[in-house]
Amino acid sequence: MSDLLERLRGRGWRLTSQRRVVAEVLDGDHVHLTADEVHSRAVERLPEISRATVYNTLGELVCLGEVLEVATDGRAKRYDPNAHRPHQHLVCSGCGAIRDVHPQGDPLAGLPQGERFGFVLAGAEITYRGLCPDCADRG
Ligand SMILES: [Zn+2]
Ligand SMILES: [Zn+2]
Repeated sequence: MSDLLERLRGRGWRLTSQRRVVAEVLDGDHVHLTADEVHSRAVERLPEISRATVYNTLGELVCLGEVLEVATDGRAKRYDPNAHRPHQHLVCSGCGAIRDVHPQGDPLAGLPQGERFGFVLAGAEITYRGLCPDCADRG
């Protein structure tokens, strides 16, 4: 589990009912939702929650470093509660399913000095693409 709610409690983040619902929607493994998806799921639990509140809360969670923004598919940003364990993403080109994966080795080490152009590297995002088992079966 991503234990997002536990982490937020531990930090003393004031859990209003609205914030709690956003955190509950994002809690879990392999969760990568767009802001609109977070909003539509939050509304199922708390009908009065507004889109603006959801967007603001997502922004706060990102600022706290408890939720990551990921852009894996060139479309809407997705929000990922797996913020403390470095990982990469495996994306299905058919249905868009996203899995957190942990490739061996340090991706930064894979870039030779000669291709760093004097940059001080801070991170790497790798997206592995393919078809998930369901989409591969259908193909
Ligand atoms: Zn798929
Ligand atoms: Zn992820």
